[in-house]
Amino acid sequence: MIQKILIANRGEIALRILRACREMGIRSVAVHSTADADAMHVRLADETVCIGPPPAQESYLNPVAILTAATISNADAIHPGYGFLSENADFAAMVEEHGLTFIGPSPEHIRLMGDKIAAKRTVREAGIPVVPGSDGSIDSEADARRIARAIGYPVLVKAAAGGGGRGMKVVTDDGQLAEAIATARAEALAAFGSGGLYVEKYLAHPRHIEVQVLADLHGNVVHLGERDCSLQRRHQKVIEEAPSPVLTPEQRSKIGALVVRTASALGYRSVGTFEFLYEDGEFYFIEMNTRLQVEHPVTEMVCGLDIVREMLRVAEGSELGFEQEDVRFVGHAIECRINAEDPETFAPSPGTIAEYHAPGGLGVRIDSALYAGYRVPPFYDSMIAKLIVSGADRRACLARLRRALAEYVISGIKTTIPLHQRLIDMPEFIDGRYDVHWLERVMRGEH
Ligand code: ADP
Repeated sequence: MIQKILIANRGEIALRILRACREMGIRSVAVHSTADADAMHVRLADETVCIGPPPAQESYLNPVAILTAATISNADAIHPGYGFLSENADFAAMVEEHGLTFIGPSPEHIRLMGDKIAAKRTVREAGIPVVPGSDGSIDSEADARRIARAIGYPVLVKAAAGGGGRGMKVVTDDGQLAEAIATARAEALAAFGSGGLYVEKYLAHPRHIEVQVLADLHGNVVHLGERDCSLQRRHQKVIEEAPSPVLTPEQRSKIGALVVRTASALGYRSVGTFEFLYEDGEFYFIEMNTRLQVEHPVTEMVCGLDIVREMLRVAEGSELGFEQEDVRFVGHAIECRINAEDPETFAPSPGTIAEYHAPGGLGVRIDSALYAGYRVPPFYDSMIAKLIVSGADRRACLARLRRALAEYVISGIKTTIPLHQRLIDMPEFIDGRYDVHWLERVMRGEH
């Protein structure tokens, strides 16, 4: 049994994991950089260890510092959260080599899915449709040109090690290919330390629909339905919802069964998400995330399950204890990612929170580590809160979301709350008629 978990993360997700630990009677160890000494996850944890200076490379991304903290605090497991070291297969392996439990998938699965080319090949062999494109990495411009012509422009040049929407370039004709390859490669090298690229058909109006899976160590796998994350800026999610406004129950069961079969065949464990583009009634796999995701709460709200709790339970060897038929979807949930940014220019806006008032009431959930007087440091991701709202159906959920956003007070810094207020009042959003490119068009003033 796991007695003590070190949470190798910060912000709202560290708090989310800490809350699950507390409810399960598991002790928690928070790690923090010197910039986060006053952070809420540090204040609420049972034990805390400072692991280094503000730059993430020297603290939250430093495996040696984190393993040392786990050793001195006598933790028996590490939860990586999302981002930072969560999809670092070497780190997961190091954790296990130290005799600790890594709360997540096996290092082999993290490594396999971390290479998006290998991931696509693997799921395609299991019968999952993928976005048409190159079979392996592209070695030369000529290679890329041949594939681009075969699948037809526009195409997307993508980084095999990609994440966070980086290292991705749209190409509309032969003439742009060389430059796109050079920039994507440079971006990928800088961000991920590896320059492998592949080419994919650029879909004109897809939705982003992803399916959550949960697997134990005994071969039991279930899916928890889908999340629609089509509202994106720069290929990054802004608003997510469950269920998707465009899927029928039959389509949900079909794609769910397909990912469950695949996860089972792979011997996958813990949580994972199969991400798809969905266009004209067809699914096309793009990647798999081998970790807890930012948007997991919308699934929790419609399934009535605590995904982090399940993740901890299966990590210590417990059986899932329920089957696919037991997973019921009730109502609708929407999550807004609130960032410390100017809502028009998206310029980062770190600084001290003067006043803080979180909305409440039925169906309103806030996952955030903010408090009045807290100073949002400039060193990390700008997401400072997630507002998750649920309702009997999408209409009720939207009405509640509108009400909750209006109640939310965060002063002293700029936030993206006004952007969310504007977006959820637009007819396309209200009707659920939006694709992954829609927000970019709105920002360009084409609406
Ligand atoms: P990352 O790993 O960087 O998040 P993904 O492959 O998951 O990259 O893609 C992120 C987003 O980029 C998708 O949700 C979608 O909006 C857009 N995108 C990715 N591939 C394509 C494609 N082939 N056509 C159109 N948009 C795409």
